[in-house]
Amino acid sequence: MCFKGTVVQETRFGAGKMKIGILAVQGGFAAHAAMLARLDAESVEVRTPADLEGCNGLILPGGESTTQLQFLQEEGLADAIGKFAEQGGAIFGTCAGAILLATEVENPRQDSLKLLDMTVLRNGYGRQIASDVVSGPTKLKREPLEMVFIRGPIIERAGPSLKVLAEYGGKPALVQRDHIMAATFHPELTEDTTVHEHFLSLVAAGASQAADSAKS
Ligand code: GLN
Repeated sequence: MCFKGTVVQETRFGAGKMKIGILAVQGGFAAHAAMLARLDAESVEVRTPADLEGCNGLILPGGESTTQLQFLQEEGLADAIGKFAEQGGAIFGTCAGAILLATEVENPRQDSLKLLDMTVLRNGYGRQIASDVVSGPTKLKREPLEMVFIRGPIIERAGPSLKVLAEYGGKPALVQRDHIMAATFHPELTEDTTVHEHFLSLVAAGASQAADSAKS
C-alpha cells in the first residue's frame, strides 16, 4: 500500500512515480483517495495550482458543481487545469466532475472547463429517482458494470470525439477522449476497481510519453 506523501515505486500499471491529484474542495474526494490507495497509486489533495505541479493525473470528484466551479475560477485552478490537460495530464471527472468537464451544461446553465465535447443535464435522472445502484454494459470488461448514481447528470449529447465506455438507460454514462474521461456515476463507491484501473492506464500512457519526450 502507498499512502499520501510517499512515492510509488513501480505500480502494476507500468509507470513508476505516478502521482494523482484529487480536487479536494468539497464533495467525495476521500473515496477516490481510498480507491487509489487500493490500487497502489499515490494521491495528493489539490486546492491550488501549485498542488497540481508534479501530478500525472487529476480526479474531479462528485459534489456540487456550482460550488466547485466557483472555487476553481477564484483560485486560478480553472486555467491551471486547462493547461494541465493541454500538456497531456490525464483527467477523470465523476458526477459533478463530469459536469465541470462538459462543453455545455444545462438545468440550469453554467460555465465549465469545456474539455469534453458533450451536453449534460444536471440532476437529469430526476429528483425522485435521483440515487440508484444499477448495472449497465461497458466496453471495459465482459461483465456489466455496477454504477452508483447520486443526483447525477445525464449526458444528453456526446460529440463524435468521445468514446462511450458504458451506458445506462440508453445514455452514455462513461465517456473518454484521449486522456480525459468522465462518469455520470460514482465508481469510487463500489468494490469494483475497473474504472479507476482504466484511468490509471491513461495516466501511465501520458507519463511514459512525457518521459520519452524529455529524453529526446
Ligand atoms: N447534482 C450535482 C450537481 O449538479 C452533482 C451530484 C454529484 O456529484 N453526486 O453539481
